Amino acid sequence: MNCIFCKIAAGEIPATIVHQDEHVVAFRDLNPQAPTHILIIPRRHIATVNDLAEADAATVGRLFLAARRIAAELGFAADGYRLVMNTNAAAGQTVFHIHLHLLAGRNFAWPPG
Ligand code: 5GP
Ligand code: ZN
Repeated sequence: MNCIFCKIAAGEIPATIVHQDEHVVAFRDLNPQAPTHILIIPRRHIATVNDLAEADAATVGRLFLAARRIAAELGFAADGYRLVMNTNAAAGQTVFHIHLHLLAGRNFAWPPG
């Protein structure tokens, strides 16, 4: 499969990895939109949120648990941070392997653009 995030998870493409375990990999976004911009992905390929099955509940939960852990380790848990997952064209999804954006280090507007 020609998926860039599967290749990062497999170590075939370099990335600045900040956390990894059996289920998830977290690495710095190549084009950061905030002082801290990390992408958290499942090792297993899932294209979009539309493709999630009941059996993926634990996998998705682990993305959030990794976000919590990284926020604590990098020291912005109390200040705050934003978690985003874009789905398909209207939301601007460009990589079709689900990824939780973890953005921190500045104030974020609401509603989002
Ligand atoms: P999306 O628009 O699909 O929600 O977000 C995709 C994100 O992946 C973008 O923020 C983009 O900068 C990032 N990205 C795309 N290709 C690479 C890559 O090869 N390495 C890293 N680290 N990030 C990437
Ligand atoms: Zn993939």
